[in-house]
Parts: sequence; structure tokens; C-alpha cells
Amino acid sequence: MEVQQLQEAFINNQNHRNAYQHAMTILSYDAETVMPKDAGARYSEVMGTLSGESYHLLINEELKALVKEILQRENEMPRWMFREAQELERSIKKAEVIPQEEYMAFQTAIALSGQAWIEAKQSNNYQLFAPHLQKMLDYATCFAKLYDSSQPVYNLLLDDYESGLTMDTLDKLFQDIWENITPLIQQIRSAQQPDVRFLQADFPLEGQRQLAHYVMDLLQIDRNRCAIGESEHPFTTSTNNHDVRITTHYYTNDLLSSLFSVIHEGGHALYMLYTGDELNGSSLAEGSSCSIHESISRFFENYIGRSREFTTCLFTKAQEIFPQQLANVTAEQFYRACNVSQPSLIRTEADELTYPLHIMIRYELEKRLVDNSLSVADLPAEWNRLYKEYLGLDVPDDAQGVLQDMHWSDASFGYFPTYALGSAYSAQILAAMEKELPVWELLAKSDLSPIINWLKEKLFVFGGIKKPQELLLEISGEAFNPQYYTNYLNKKYRSLYNL
Ligand SMILES: [Zn+2]
Repeated sequence: MEVQQLQEAFINNQNHRNAYQHAMTILSYDAETVMPKDAGARYSEVMGTLSGESYHLLINEELKALVKEILQRENEMPRWMFREAQELERSIKKAEVIPQEEYMAFQTAIALSGQAWIEAKQSNNYQLFAPHLQKMLDYATCFAKLYDSSQPVYNLLLDDYESGLTMDTLDKLFQDIWENITPLIQQIRSAQQPDVRFLQADFPLEGQRQLAHYVMDLLQIDRNRCAIGESEHPFTTSTNNHDVRITTHYYTNDLLSSLFSVIHEGGHALYMLYTGDELNGSSLAEGSSCSIHESISRFFENYIGRSREFTTCLFTKAQEIFPQQLANVTAEQFYRACNVSQPSLIRTEADELTYPLHIMIRYELEKRLVDNSLSVADLPAEWNRLYKEYLGLDVPDDAQGVLQDMHWSDASFGYFPTYALGSAYSAQILAAMEKELPVWELLAKSDLSPIINWLKEKLFVFGGIKKPQELLLEISGEAFNPQYYTNYLNKKYRSLYNL
């Protein structure tokens, strides 16, 4: 085949497959935001049909032949096309080893497991979920072994979310956190906490919406290409770099929840908005990895968003919108309120310092569930034991314990570590940025342009063309080093709590 012909055939194939992806993305955004409840049954059927079609378009001889030829002719191909072919080869291999009936049975089992998890959580009854969890675990381990029986199963599961990630890397990261962060958490437990009662006032939704738009302005999010909606749990999704959507959830008795979720999702949105145009329609538009995506959202949420400089900008606007609620509050009090650290039961509500411990607990449990050294029946007791050991907390019930996250209900074993890894990557990225930009001076002037441009040039524009380790090495001049993260947390929280 002529080079041009080959490239055109590949792009046509990609556009065709992407049309299904585009439709499913918009339908699921609709389902999470505005779809009436009773529309759910038909929605699931439609999604089932579309994902079945998508599966056939992936596992298909025409695409396989195109991928093979592109991989053989690397020098004649644009870089993105070669990388996309590599990613497709990997996805095809992973999907192909699963017999189609097994795959369909797994999809059905996921739907049932999801429903059982919701019911179990609502009624605080782990037994309702346990058999489904066992099934999810069996499917995940069985599929991983079919793909590659020579490697530890948990490494294969990690690889689904971050190519090449292994337990060795995570063991080092968590060891570092254990040694350097847990003593600090202990010290803060007996330190004096700031007075945050002003956060318990009533903050009407209209004002919070206004504040969310102000934050999007500060982050320079182009509203012609990015919309904001409302959903139960905040998330970001996109179909291409001209259609990005974030959501948030407003609570009238909680000003910070929506505020920081908009900054977090805004970080994800910036990454998607500035991914190179040539990547639209390819899987590379989804970014380098889950961890890199999370490193950007957490960079904006915590490193930038919770800094003294940025919270001062936020506070000025918040006080203008809520003059009565914030009448006797200072910018310094607001900054401290945004950075309270206290061990808590729920991962998604945890502060920046105690957050990685929630991930370490899940990591320990997942590893043991996967290698069969922990049974599904013993999981809740083990969960509770680790919360006591790591965070000093008694877990009152399974709803606030082992049933709190949905990840295991759809077999996403190996996903949790990407959250902690993302935070650790952010610290290394920030340290590199600080060498080239006066980050804090810029924030004090509410001028994020140089910061966003820096990330755009060094990271966003490449999407998934560059792998996580390649990006880190290019940006910071060294391989992943967890010490940036533990140093950052120590410095910040020792200063906040005068330790
Ligand atoms: Zn995120």
C-alpha cells in the first residue's frame, strides 16, 4: 500500500470507530447530568449495543492489518500515528484473548455488581456485595492470566491504567510515604486545629455557581470549548479538544467542596483542551496515563489551588459574593481552612496529607486479594484493622468502610494507586517548574498564563504520544523520585501547624 493510502485508510477507520466513542461519551455525560431516572433501562440497552459495535470494530481483521503495517513502517509515519498503532496493538491483544461469550458475561456481571454495590452500601450490608466482588476478582485475575501468565497478576492489572507500572515502583513510593508522612500525621493529631466554623454557614447555590465561573476564568478555561454541568460526583469528559465538559456538585452547607472540585476538574479540562489537534479521535487524546492526568488535576487543586497566594485570590472573590457569611474572616483564616489535616474515614473527603494513606490501605488489600492471601469474606475486618493502624480510626460500619468506593464493583483493581502516583508526579513537576518560573509571584498576581503555557508546551500538547516516565524525565531531568512529594508535604504541613 502507498504511504498516503495507508494513512488515509487508518484515519478513516479511526473516524469510524471514534464516532461510536463520541456518541457513548455524550450519552453517558447526559446520563450523569440531566437524564430522567426512568430513562435508565433503555439507556443501558443502547449503551450495550454501541459498546458491542465498538468491540467488533476493534477486534477486526482490517484494523489489525492496518496496525501491523504502520508498526512495520515506523519511519514513514507521523509519530502520533505510530504511537496510536502501538496502543491499538496492546488493546487488541488484551481484548482478543478473552472469548467473546466470556466478555459479554463479564459485562453483564459488572452491571449486576454495580447494582449490588449500591444496595449494599445503602443498606450497610457487605454480604449483598461479597459474591459479586468475588466474581469481579475472578474475572480480573482470569483475564490477566490469559493475557500473560508469566507476570504477577497485580502488575498486569496496574499496567491497564499506567503502562509499565509495577509493584516495585509503588512499594518504594508507599515506603517513602510511610516513613516520612505518618510521623507528621501523628504530630498533627495532637496539634491545635484552626477554627473553621465559618465554613458551616449557608452558601446559596447561585453564589457558588458564580464562584465556579470565576475559578474557570482564573484557570483561563475557554468556555466556547468547555462546559460545566452538575452531577452527583464531579468528573471531566471530552470527545475532542473542542468539546470538554466538567461537572461539579454544590452543597449549600459546604463552600469548599464544589470550589476545589471545579479546580480539580478544571485541571483535567486544561489537559484535554490543549492536547494537540492531530490527536483528536485517537486514544492518545486521553493523555499519557491516568496518573499523569491525575497529576495535573491535583497540581491545580492542591499545589496551586490550596496555596496561600491562590486562596487569597479565591477569598477576595468569595467574600465579595458572600459578604455576610465571610464578614469576620481573614484571608489567612481562609487559607488555613482550605488546608486542615485530620484523619478521616472517607477517601474522597480526605485532605492532601492523609489522602495517600487511604490509597496505601487499598493497595495492600488489592495485592492480597489478587494473590489469594486475603479472602473476600475477611476483607471488611482487614479494612477496619488497617484504618486503625494507618489512620488511628475506628470504622463504625462497612458503608463508611469497605463499601465506600465503587471501583471494585466494576473490577477496577489496580486503579487506586494512580491517585497517589499522580500526586507524587505533581510534586516533581512543580519542582521543575519552580526552576523556570516565579510560580508563587505569578499566583499572587492571579496570572496563570505562564504556568498553563509551560504545562501546555511540556506536557499537554503531547497527549499520549509520550509515556509517563518519558515526560517526567524530560520535564524534570530525572526519573520518578517520590522524595519530591514527601518533601513538599512535610514542608507545607510543618509550616501550617508550626511543627
Ligand atoms: Zn481526577
